[in-house]
Amino acid sequence: MEKKEENIRVRIAPSPTGPLHLGTVRTALFNWLFARQHHGSFILRIDDTDQERSSSEWEKDILEGLLWLGLNWDEGPILPEHLQENFKDQKSLNLQEGYIGNFGPYHQSQRIPIYQKYLKKLVEEKKAYLCFCRPEELEKEREIMIASGQAPKYSGRCRSLSEEEVKEKLNRKEKYVIRLKTPEKTISIDDLIKGKVSFNLSLIGDFIIAKDFSSPLYNFASVVDDYEMKISHIIRGDDHLSNTPKQIVIAEALNFPKPKYAHIPLLLNPDRTKLSKRKQSITLRDYKEKGYLPEAILNFLVLLGWHPEEEEEFLPLEEIIEKFSLKKIQKSPAIFLSKKLDWLNAKHIRNLKLEKLKKFAKPFLQKEFKEIDDNYLEKVLPLVKDRLKRLDQLPELTKFFFKKPVYSKSLLPWQEESFSQTKNNLKKIKKLLEEIEDKDWQENVLEKELFSLADKVGRGEIFWPLRVALSGEKASPPPIELMLVLGKKETIERIEKAIAKLEK
Ligand code: GLU
Repeated sequence: MEKKEENIRVRIAPSPTGPLHLGTVRTALFNWLFARQHHGSFILRIDDTDQERSSSEWEKDILEGLLWLGLNWDEGPILPEHLQENFKDQKSLNLQEGYIGNFGPYHQSQRIPIYQKYLKKLVEEKKAYLCFCRPEELEKEREIMIASGQAPKYSGRCRSLSEEEVKEKLNRKEKYVIRLKTPEKTISIDDLIKGKVSFNLSLIGDFIIAKDFSSPLYNFASVVDDYEMKISHIIRGDDHLSNTPKQIVIAEALNFPKPKYAHIPLLLNPDRTKLSKRKQSITLRDYKEKGYLPEAILNFLVLLGWHPEEEEEFLPLEEIIEKFSLKKIQKSPAIFLSKKLDWLNAKHIRNLKLEKLKKFAKPFLQKEFKEIDDNYLEKVLPLVKDRLKRLDQLPELTKFFFKKPVYSKSLLPWQEESFSQTKNNLKKIKKLLEEIEDKDWQENVLEKELFSLADKVGRGEIFWPLRVALSGEKASPPPIELMLVLGKKETIERIEKAIAKLEK
């Protein structure tokens, strides 16, 4: 672990304009880990200044997803009760102990007066100005600049408007935007991951920070919030690097102290194109529905850009918290290999305590088999746990525990055995099992009885048809394990069904 720093405050600021994306989850995870390691605070801020594209449905998806993963945030306004209700289940599943919960996120849309105050200040101090240029004029200007081989940027025409001119235009209700006077200089940051990065501000020009005094744009609202929320480190995707110089000049204009930056590498598809939903699913919901565990998803995502010193890649969350190092994140893009996620998921499923596995598994089985008894499930899961890659495989792997198997008669005989020999063997098994008292329906008794019969008749001759009668499958957990879960009555009924099949 890195040396502990004081007063660490980090944030993620997703826009609720779509479902929670694995890229956002990875950014959240890196921030969350950094906060946990330094006993700092992890803040969730919903970037919903773009009201038209934001929706409460997507916000719910984001909150639910983060809580399901256990990436809890540390402060915020109290969550309204109806939302607390929504998150009750997620909370009980995976949140770390000690989570007090019930905080909502901050919303930019509820902080407009704060942004207004700073916008007014900048305009009063003449560090920002109202620009009344019309879109057609700007477009023309752009075309001319491109044609003369220049990088397009705003000419700064409205910088020199006098106060009277501005007043007149406002009286005439002319539309305006607010632009920041951007100095023509080079600035640099010491990015914790990328090292020194320099930006030439003269390429940017006077950019727009708000559509009007009540409609700040992302860069402006972000800088104000990061300052007001005392954010110490901005850890976010590489794709935001182009926003960083703008945010720095805004912060300089407002005399805000500079936070530290860490831009994490991009995620790529295996063919090295930018990770996109056309190539593979990238929403957390998809992975949840396929039966990936939160711990596997977090383990997988943390390895996209970071590695522990040792080679071991299977890492429980506590180990990740202990070993993760922001400074050791690689600079180069990380490749998203879903096979690795399958491998990690299988390992995490094996590692999961039965009680927790039961909670995650139950919905997958309920979808298929309706009533699922908890005690019964406790017996079933250990038998298939080691073969599971994803929880959505559960119904197929366990179906014979929940309903009578369907199979063809030809599957029953062992090798060259005839139907009538198989039937006789099953009858012998049935007779033997019927004589076992309920209280003796136990592994050692069943083993002793069945093996002594198999010694006389043949192993395959006994255990093969027995397995098929119980599971309808060629491969399943061993027959004795099946019998212990199914119980005496159901076992005998299934053997009778097999005998009846062979009689036809
Ligand atoms: N709303 C931005 C996003 O969703 C936030 C970027 C930032 O972290 O500053 O990517």
